[in-house]
Amino acid sequence: MNADRFGLVLAALAVLSVLALLGQRLRRRAAQRRRGAQPFRDDWRTALRRHVPLYRRLPGALRAQVERTALVFAARVDFVGCNGLQVTDEMRLVVAVQAALLVVKRNADAYRPLHSVLLYPDAFVVPIAEEDETGVVTEAQDVLAGQSIATDSIVLSWPDVISTAPSAHAHNLVLHECAHFLDHVWGGTLSTASSDAASTWHDTLGAEYARLCRAVESGAQSLIDPYGSADRAEFFAVATEAFFERSDALAKQNPELYAVLREFYGLNPIEWPAEGPTA
Ligand SMILES: [Zn+2]
Repeated sequence: MNADRFGLVLAALAVLSVLALLGQRLRRRAAQRRRGAQPFRDDWRTALRRHVPLYRRLPGALRAQVERTALVFAARVDFVGCNGLQVTDEMRLVVAVQAALLVVKRNADAYRPLHSVLLYPDAFVVPIAEEDETGVVTEAQDVLAGQSIATDSIVLSWPDVISTAPSAHAHNLVLHECAHFLDHVWGGTLSTASSDAASTWHDTLGAEYARLCRAVESGAQSLIDPYGSADRAEFFAVATEAFFERSDALAKQNPELYAVLREFYGLNPIEWPAEGPTA
């Protein structure tokens, strides 16, 4: 084969692979649109009642609003099963209803930049760089249950998403990672504020973060996960978990924090009924 012909074959192969990719993307978009246009099915509600205790507590009108927002989320975002995990509609919706809950009264478009949710069949390993006190950096690995990667993707271990193992602290992996994602999208919820309302928000979160750090240092019990003392972004994520998962206790023990989160999310979980039936 002469050089011209070889070049033509290469160009044809390149065009074919681009067309194949486009076809794949169009088919995926069509499947997503079909899913987004579906009515909310009763078997999905059964799965949600089984796996998402918070869903069982949602009052009727709010639940309908969350379901609509969740369908759009599940239709728009690519759910990718990793390491052989097969993603089902139930898995998509278990993640989507919790993601939707955080924005349903604020801005349902907040997840527009989110490209994908990666689901793993177990905890996953990520490479990290560790720096010692002399400045020497070594490559290491971290085992994670969840991760929010800037405004592009959220990574979750499916068994941790549906874990209902008793814990001393409020725990909800999906709310935690989605709170990080929203923190990125909204430019850092703890960044410097200018307006009075924003100033109250930042002052309160700052004071509550310092309170958690003091509790952790002194070894005192805390409703909020001590992991939140790592930095302010982690504090916002674990405070969000406590706001939804231990709302009564948070409203009593940290009323100012509860009040700013109620304003922030536009929701008041202490008014929601106790958990409904699981089936
Ligand atoms: Zn975190």
